[in-house]
Amino acid sequence: MVQTAVDVAVIGAGLAGAATAATLAARGRSVTVLEQFRAGHRHGSSHGSARIVRRAYGDPLYLALTGPALELWRDLEDRSGARLLRMLGAIDFGPGRDVPVIAEHLAAARVAHEVLDAAEAERRWPGMVFDGPVLFHPQAGTLDADEAVTAMLRLAEIDGATVRSGAAVRTVRADGDAATVVLADGEALSAGRVVVAAGAWLQPLLGDTVPLPPLRVTEQHVFHFPRQDPAAPPWPSVIHALTHPVYHLAGGRDGGPADDRKIGEHDLGTLTTAASRSGRADPESRRRVVDYVRRWLPGLEPTPRSETTCLYTSTPTEDFLLDSVGPVVVCSPCSGHGAKFAPLVGEWVADEIDGRDRVPARFRLAAHRGARTSAGVSL
Ligand SMILES: Cc1cc2nc3c(=O)[nH]c(=O)nc-3n(C[C@H](O)[C@H](O)[C@H](O)COP(=O)(O)OP(=O)(O)OC[C@H]3O[C@@H](n4cnc5c(N)ncnc54)[C@H](O)[C@@H]3O)c2cc1C
Repeated sequence: MVQTAVDVAVIGAGLAGAATAATLAARGRSVTVLEQFRAGHRHGSSHGSARIVRRAYGDPLYLALTGPALELWRDLEDRSGARLLRMLGAIDFGPGRDVPVIAEHLAAARVAHEVLDAAEAERRWPGMVFDGPVLFHPQAGTLDADEAVTAMLRLAEIDGATVRSGAAVRTVRADGDAATVVLADGEALSAGRVVVAAGAWLQPLLGDTVPLPPLRVTEQHVFHFPRQDPAAPPWPSVIHALTHPVYHLAGGRDGGPADDRKIGEHDLGTLTTAASRSGRADPESRRRVVDYVRRWLPGLEPTPRSETTCLYTSTPTEDFLLDSVGPVVVCSPCSGHGAKFAPLVGEWVADEIDGRDRVPARFRLAAHRGARTSAGVSL
């Protein structure tokens, strides 16, 4: 058994692990990233060219976090030279969205926004149908997840980090102040701290060692619909809070040369595990989303041109999970809304390792133990 000593081992090179590695390396830490596949693979949660970024949240905690996160994304764009954000704005509406309350939160945070009636919104964004009050805010749009992972890993490497592909971790064991990480091929690494940013693989990897809250892994089905007028400017990102919320956004590269519209159902994924997920879009979800497009989005062709799946790992409250247990830092910011916060997550983990308590209390293990029901915070 080979025994290598590293300062910080980061397990996982998705958005959370890549952000953690970039932040720690920038702070002068020696970092080794261990990724079971290759960085940029499509088996987890961080692949593809489009995630929604937005300031509007029903929950004031997350709304407050969106500002610093956006600043960190801009800083990352400056440092890496990569174009990660498309600031197309965002629209929130539907019976499950308390538009007046979110507008109040945005006003309190001095985030520019407008509340329109449905007829006005339909005039402004032809091809979409609205009902009820419609909230628009311009400090929003999409984030290129693939490019973000690439940019963060590249910066980490420039600052001295080592990124290892094909390095599947089999076990993580705390040994007093340090930890031992054993890879599938038997290689053992001794690490001062281990950050486990393993997404949907967190429970199987760490569940026997750390008392995790119940984590629900779902395969989310996503469809790209052609726009009837590909020359028109792309619409803002949209959250339509029906009984089962639907979101849609400009697909970017994944949407092909015509920037097809990416559409998904937020809470109707298929319960699965990282090992057993099918990788195939669910025909029932496709049927529902096609019906949705016919009813609400006459500006799109109602037949998807492409489709894909992706994994959510959700806590019961949809709050992120971020805490230390001895030398191990558990880092699970998904619940379907973690991409937009990735660089902030990197800062929190680095602060945790530097002994600074900056992680919001709600994300700690103890808070998850006390919380039982879904607060639906991710919308
Ligand atoms: C369909 C979909 C839409 C989404 N939309 C949005 C959105 O609009 N806005 C938003 O903010 N967020 C969104 N999200 C959430 C966001 O994408 C996730 O929060 C984020 O990608 C989670 O990243 P992660 O690094 O935690 O997980 P992952 O990207 O899954 O990374 C975990 C990594 O760990 C590696 N790994 C696991 N186990 C091991 C092991 N034993 N050894 C070595 N490596 C290991 C895996 O291979 C993987 O690369 C969406 C997610 C999905 C699926």
